[in-house]
Amino acid sequence: MRAVDIIIKKRDKEELAGEEIKFFIDGFTRGEISDYQVSAWAMAILLNGMTPRETTDLTMAIAHSGEILDLSGIVKIALDKHSSGGVGDKTSLVVLPIVAACGLPVGKMSGRGLGFSGGTLDKLESIPGYRVDLSTDEFKQQLKREGIVLTGQSFDLAPADGKLYALRDVTGTVQSIPLIASSIMSKKIASGAQAIVLDVKVGLGAFMETLEDARNLADLMKDIGRLAGREVVTLISDMNQPLGSAVGNSLEVIEAINTLHNSGPADFHEHCIHISALMLVLGHIATNEKAGRKLAETALGSGEAYRKFQILVKAQGGDVNFVDNPENFPKAKFFQIIQSDRSGYLSLVHARMIGEAAVMLGAGRSKKGDPVDHAVGLLIHHKVGDKVEKGEPLYTIHANDLSKQIQIHKFLNSAFGWSDTPVPALPHYYN
Ligand code: URA
Repeated sequence: MRAVDIIIKKRDKEELAGEEIKFFIDGFTRGEISDYQVSAWAMAILLNGMTPRETTDLTMAIAHSGEILDLSGIVKIALDKHSSGGVGDKTSLVVLPIVAACGLPVGKMSGRGLGFSGGTLDKLESIPGYRVDLSTDEFKQQLKREGIVLTGQSFDLAPADGKLYALRDVTGTVQSIPLIASSIMSKKIASGAQAIVLDVKVGLGAFMETLEDARNLADLMKDIGRLAGREVVTLISDMNQPLGSAVGNSLEVIEAINTLHNSGPADFHEHCIHISALMLVLGHIATNEKAGRKLAETALGSGEAYRKFQILVKAQGGDVNFVDNPENFPKAKFFQIIQSDRSGYLSLVHARMIGEAAVMLGAGRSKKGDPVDHAVGLLIHHKVGDKVEKGEPLYTIHANDLSKQIQIHKFLNSAFGWSDTPVPALPHYYN
């Protein structure tokens, strides 16, 4: 078999056999198939798609490119959550401590930013000392000891996904339903998850822009879960505007800390409670969603969830002083509040443009391996449907480069839309 023939076959819209997919992924994992061939293949998949069977074969090939974690001796039920990616999505930072505080041990391996969409690892690394490179053994020990782990994907688990993810980020091949579904599900299968809550984002700031695509992605992941013997619950949530207010690494960690203190933005708080409730039901801690929501609210209100977050940060080498005193996080040099130049009802707060602006500021990467600037980002002060008066703060730019601050101000001019008549708030979830 030759890699080039497999690329050509996909380019010509033919269906790949399981062995061909396995050959390609195994060769890539061993470094025998080069980045440029894999990039071309990913582009052919993006343009021509894959059947559910090919996608399942791809998922299993990626999952088996490394070790498959077995958590059966450590937790009663290995539970996980995953978001398909969005702007301002810092949900794991809040949900994991809530769920763990409710008595359900939970360990999660997260990813880095991808295109305009932020990544939990980049956010966590804004906490000085926080390690995101736990070994599989360390993962297991911490899960057993503390009941909570939030780390990067270990090199031993689904290594092909880590390599492919980094290439897709910089070759315009992120927005492909089979590539996203196999990326997410391979990691979940490799990390030993038995039950998974999948949060599929839809809208301007999501990889899935239409409800139809979001439903297809959700259904495909449920199918893969079924074939792989995993219990999968999906929800489709709005990503037309950023989730919460903060976009940018340390700004998002601070917002997550505020939410753990029960004083986060209303939409983000609601989202965290909802995902936690779904996880608590899947983990047999709550009998239904309503009971799960109540438990989650209690864990936040009592401070137990925040205490779990402190335990997590300490266990992974992070400086708890920073999370206890968020004003200590390094600040960007320049700080500018942009005021609204008109009165009216907000009809658009363009999540993708805001995510792109954060990347332009340095919060994300333009090419593989770029460093990220943890201090920069944006705070968006209003949601779609809000009535805003002329002169009211609309958003705040945190920049380390004055010219970028000016550039972002110009760029974001068209990210906000207005109406003279009332506009309904956007829904949180879709059916
Ligand atoms: N999240 C993932 O884990 N993989 C993708 O491809 C997109 C979002």
